[in-house]
Amino acid sequence: MEQTLKKYFGYDSFRPQQKEIILNVLNKKDALVLMPTGGGKSICYQIPALVSEGTAIVVSPLISLMKDQVEALRANGVATAALNSNNDETENMEIKRACINGKLKLLYISPERLLMEMDYLLRDMQISLFAIDEAHCISQWGHDFRPEYTKMGILHERFPNTPIIALTATADKITRQDIIRQLHLKEPRLFISSFDRPNLSLDVKRGYQQREKHKELIHFINQHADESGIIYCMSRSKTESVAQMLQKQGIRSAVYHAGMSPQQRDKAQEDFINDRVQVVCATIAFGMGINKSNVRWVVHYNLPKSIESFYQEIGRAGRDGVAADTLLFYSLGDLILLTKFATESSQQSVNQEKLQRIQQYAEADICRRRILLNYFGEQSENDCGNCDVCRNPPERFDGTVIVQKALSAIVRTNQSIASNMLIDILRGSFSADLIDKGYDKLKTFGAGRDIPGRDWQDYVLQMLQLGYIEIAYNENNHLKVTESGSHILFGKKTAELVTIKRTELPPKEKGRKKKQVQPKPLFTGANANEDMDLFEELRALRLRLASHEAIPPYIVFSDKVLHLLAAIQPTTIEAFGEINGVGEIKKNKYGKDFIEVIKRHQP
Ligand code: ADP
Ligand code: ZN
Repeated sequence: MEQTLKKYFGYDSFRPQQKEIILNVLNKKDALVLMPTGGGKSICYQIPALVSEGTAIVVSPLISLMKDQVEALRANGVATAALNSNNDETENMEIKRACINGKLKLLYISPERLLMEMDYLLRDMQISLFAIDEAHCISQWGHDFRPEYTKMGILHERFPNTPIIALTATADKITRQDIIRQLHLKEPRLFISSFDRPNLSLDVKRGYQQREKHKELIHFINQHADESGIIYCMSRSKTESVAQMLQKQGIRSAVYHAGMSPQQRDKAQEDFINDRVQVVCATIAFGMGINKSNVRWVVHYNLPKSIESFYQEIGRAGRDGVAADTLLFYSLGDLILLTKFATESSQQSVNQEKLQRIQQYAEADICRRRILLNYFGEQSENDCGNCDVCRNPPERFDGTVIVQKALSAIVRTNQSIASNMLIDILRGSFSADLIDKGYDKLKTFGAGRDIPGRDWQDYVLQMLQLGYIEIAYNENNHLKVTESGSHILFGKKTAELVTIKRTELPPKEKGRKKKQVQPKPLFTGANANEDMDLFEELRALRLRLASHEAIPPYIVFSDKVLHLLAAIQPTTIEAFGEINGVGEIKKNKYGKDFIEVIKRHQP
């Protein structure tokens, strides 16, 4: 097994659980595998497929996923094909013939096609195992429900002796049970990996208004020059306006949302996968088909509606295990809008509860990773050191006067204003609406002029979190003073606020700075002496080789392999082949080119 792993995938050892899962399949037992995105699920059925007689059937819900897997396996010299509606009939005939002749180690197939072929092709070929990828699609409770998945229960009827391995990154209990029940898995072993993704940094920016958000975003992307990233936005129009804003800054960006034609969406996705655009501004419609391993960052321009969606979306970064950054913008406006959606939805209480949990995450002043892991039922003992709270523990100060000013303004308007009006009153801004209502005559008008509006946004969020105010969602989002708020207002208690720290951005960043990639901490143990210039040259070579073969660059080699090459700098084919992630085929195919660049670079 280890030899097969090295030969085809170039890896030196299995990750925790992979080997047990593989042995379980080889013993012809069923299994349900829960691993986070990037955890290494594919190896769990690909190695058994390689070492067994016959062909493994892999059910996959999306053509783009099949394409990605087939490309990756072929690049490693594994005989693989996909049977789906994208192929023409001659192609499909050839694939079927190859199956019957036992020429393929793996066959990827859509659930519809699988059902069609149940009594034909499947009977005529030798099947080593069934792998059901993205198995959560079987559950109505999940977010990617696919009706065809529910009919796969007959697999075990027709093929009682062939093991089934179901794999997913969606962990909740209902989905788990649904998968086992509907697939009729026989005494399945459950393999649950840790959902921790230590290589993803976590960062939340609170209370930013649009202009500031854009400034921060551009700064963030400039720090990730030429590195692929995804920006998730709440609405279609937002994806478009953010992409336009970035384009103006010279950042190659595409848009992806469900309102576009399938052709437009495919193009955006292809451009992203092949590194032709750096950024995709997308709604939640974007993602399941993306196996791209070198996504280096994910930004949430708006608050997501649950921790599940948030975690799945940030999970698309750093699949290769190399450090990747995530950033969430949290604003009161988003919270109000999402609360409205949740309240109007059919599953009101569930959705409100989910929203509250992501809100807690965004407002947290304890290690954010602990909150995430805790949500998925994993208790962690230690702070992570890779989130903004750990890096910059919050400092508090006596904010009683600030809170009193705000509460007093709310009370003096008879609690009939929303947060923006509150801030206008405190700042002493003359808006037409404000003058209309006579709020410029209030005693608190202008009482908070010394504090910038953006900081007031943050303080209002803190007051909400501390329970001093509530938002009356059914009353135009007016702010109401709570009982504990009135204790502060009347001086019976003091209020502690968190000091606002903002990374001061350089006054004007014109365009983007080229090639400013910062060395990143790596989890390979070999990066200490990594040469970043060499890394850039290797990356350029990878892009050339990939374009030449018309495959995505990350299929040639992952970022992790490039980092290892830049650190270890092998100069012989043998040494090149020793690198973790270089298999036999790639050693022989690419070794010469990479070594040449490395040698040229050396003094
Ligand atoms: P998942 O399907 O769980 O999201 P993948 O199967 O795509 O994850 O694996 C994620 C990444 O980890 C891939 O780049 C894969 O090649 C790599 N990987 C998997 N197993 C190992 C291993 N044993 N050693 C090193 N890298 C691995
Ligand atoms: Zn932390």
